[in-house]
Amino acid sequence: MPDPPVLIVGAGPTGLTLGLRLARHGVPFRIVDQAGGPGQASRAMVLQARTLEFYGQLGLAEAVIKRGIPVETAHFREHGTEVASLSLKDVGAGISPYPFALCFPQDDHERFLVDQLALHGAAVEWGVALHRFEDRAGSVRATLRGNATQEDCEAVYLCGCDGAHSVVRQQLGLGFPGGTYDQLFYVADVAVAGPPTTDLFLQLGERSLVLMLPVRSSGMQRLIGIVPSELVTQAKVTFEDVRRSAESLLGITVERANWFSTYRVHHRVAARFRVGRAFILGDAGHLHSPAGGQGMNTGIGDAVNLSWKLAHVIQGRTGPGVLDTYEPERIAFARKLVETTDRAFQGMVGQGWSSRFLRSWFLPHLLPALTGVAAVRRAMFSTLSQTRISYRDSALSEGSAGQVRGGDRLPWLGGNYAGLAGLDWSLQVYGHVDPDLAHAAAALGVAVDSFGWDDAAATAGFARGAAYLLRPDGHVALAMPHPETATLRAYAARIGLASRGGQAPC
Ligand SMILES: Cc1cc2nc3c(=O)[nH]c(=O)nc-3n(C[C@H](O)[C@H](O)[C@H](O)COP(=O)(O)OP(=O)(O)OC[C@H]3O[C@@H](n4cnc5c(N)ncnc54)[C@H](O)[C@@H]3O)c2cc1C
Repeated sequence: MPDPPVLIVGAGPTGLTLGLRLARHGVPFRIVDQAGGPGQASRAMVLQARTLEFYGQLGLAEAVIKRGIPVETAHFREHGTEVASLSLKDVGAGISPYPFALCFPQDDHERFLVDQLALHGAAVEWGVALHRFEDRAGSVRATLRGNATQEDCEAVYLCGCDGAHSVVRQQLGLGFPGGTYDQLFYVADVAVAGPPTTDLFLQLGERSLVLMLPVRSSGMQRLIGIVPSELVTQAKVTFEDVRRSAESLLGITVERANWFSTYRVHHRVAARFRVGRAFILGDAGHLHSPAGGQGMNTGIGDAVNLSWKLAHVIQGRTGPGVLDTYEPERIAFARKLVETTDRAFQGMVGQGWSSRFLRSWFLPHLLPALTGVAAVRRAMFSTLSQTRISYRDSALSEGSAGQVRGGDRLPWLGGNYAGLAGLDWSLQVYGHVDPDLAHAAAALGVAVDSFGWDDAAATAGFARGAAYLLRPDGHVALAMPHPETATLRAYAARIGLASRGGQAPC
């Protein structure tokens, strides 16, 4: 039997998502991980709305939401006292079908994805590490090592989802510029005295930051904080070392600590996300401060972006050029994210006047007032939830109609996400569908969905009578204010979009 065309190295959330999406596309793959099984530590806690939308495409959003806890209220504290609280309930209403952030610990999340893969007959090969690889003309030859075994395998594409110390990135000789924060972070799962809470608590202070979030699977609370600077030089830091500061800053009493770990946080983006037939995704390509809960969601976004491109090139649905758009689309977002999370993090824990202003004035006095303004709430949600991600500069993006431009995420309008479940190209028309256009779309194997024109469509930014060609990840490829078959055909020809079975795999 020939080797599958895709070799995924690493079965963290990024590699597992890539595998699950490829499975849904019907693309065979192999997924290996050097660890003995799924991660045991909960690490990333927050799933953003955009990630839930991707699960919605697979019909899995409700199952994920059932396992997690939507964050309804955030409490901000300084010097151990609450200075502001914000209701986050339905903060993104009208923007996303999932107008909240969801607490779902990474270990539960990974197990969920492993189970989903199993339903597709796919399994992670645990205890198998990528040792080295070579990009030859037409294929990648990889050497894999198990406990007492070594084997060579061929793949058409290699996907390095192998985390911060990525062997794929290192073997590609890619720089990983950026830096490491001075602060040492800790993470703990604790049982807290008193009635259970599902709110989020954030304590900010000069050089101090502690966050408390609910962990459903254990009924515990997750603490994430900065180890006080006087303890950083200690050979080993334990929960007892940080207990007093965490308890007084958050106003809690910890009855029991189940798990405690310290870690350093980096802010880095790899120089490239693709070299030849090898790609890097997730932490292999970018690392950021935990501010805003973006890290894991960004890795999942990388996997979604690359999965359909790999699938459609392998299946001959589009030309190989679409693979060239993975790096520019995702590296631009990663760079911007690292910059903004860095600024946010420095602002929250810094000692300068701007940080003091943020903690003493902005959060307690201005933010609650500003979040009463609908436009501010929308902007805040759109940024944190990753629903604002746009690929307007991508070679795949063309045209503009209303406020929607090629590259934008399809604005959500109640029922208009149902057609995304096909994981294929589709055409949405807001008004009358021209029969010639419908015919041209059908010839390309592109499903057409039409929606009546109303105020909601106008508010969402669509233009009356416009047509939007959508990519399989729900981003607008081509926006046509006056739908013309010639424009659709020219776009399809440019990217090599052919009805299924039209082209040979590359
Ligand atoms: C303590 C801690 C707390 C964190 N808290 C947060 C948080 O609150 N919010 C947030 O967004 N992010 C957080 N993160 C970061 C988050 O966990 C990562 O962004 C996320 O795990 C990235 O997923 P990934 O799949 O890209 O990489 P990883 O989860 O690192 O997975 C990489 C996988 O590749 C495997 N692997 C590595 N090398 C090889 C090889 N040569 N061959 C085969 N397999 C290999 C590894 O075994 C691993 O399973 C935290 C991280 C840590 C360490």
